[in-house]
Amino acid sequence: MVKSGSSTTLRIGIMGGTFDPIHIGHLILAEEAWQQFSLDVVLFVPAGDPPHKSGRVEARGKDRLEMVKLAVNDNDHFEYSTMELDRTGPSYTIDTLRELRKLLGESAQMYLLIGTDEARNLMTWHDPYGIQELATIAVADRPNYTFESAARRLPENLASGLVRLRTPRLDISSTDIRRRVKANLSIRYLVPRAVETYILDKCLYGNS
Ligand code: ATP
Ligand code: MG
Repeated sequence: MVKSGSSTTLRIGIMGGTFDPIHIGHLILAEEAWQQFSLDVVLFVPAGDPPHKSGRVEARGKDRLEMVKLAVNDNDHFEYSTMELDRTGPSYTIDTLRELRKLLGESAQMYLLIGTDEARNLMTWHDPYGIQELATIAVADRPNYTFESAARRLPENLASGLVRLRTPRLDISSTDIRRRVKANLSIRYLVPRAVETYILDKCLYGNS
């Protein structure tokens, strides 16, 4: 895990998600954030029991974590944390940020990395203003939702603090990948090769 205590300020991106499974949309978003915000590291934090997806997560936490590990291990500024998987109860982002703040200290600069589909629903998250106090919320476009349309759905004092993260717009989702696997369609290049092999070897998502 990332450590505090270096003489310079740590700049960290936090990439939460169910990662059911992790795909190149997540990885490209994280790499772009690393570059645009001069981050030291991006931390991938697979959710345990995501409040908005209760009962709709298909792969077990153990498999989702394993796929995250396989996807990030060849990038030396990507890391992962099991903190949400280790917690019991729903995975609230505010709890994760508080835990990281405690671990990393006051000087750490935290960037919460999310897509526009999540940003537009920020008011339904637990303590959105608390989240914004702890971290800069950086938002990447997804097809269907522009940055502006997501921001318009939020109160002005929340929307004005959002930072735009420019990424190639990729129409890739875990939902579509699960559907493809079920239908025996190729997912090559949509996920890293090692993740593809893991899914097929473990017969995840109902492939046969
Ligand atoms: P699902 O279809 O199961 O919801 P997903 O592809 O949306 O999966 P999540 O794990 O829900 O993946 O997303 C984690 C984070 O990554 C969210 O903030 C989401 O907005 C963002 N994200 C996912 N896919 C993309 C993409 N193709 N482009 C930009 N952001 C993305
Ligand atoms: Mg999603």
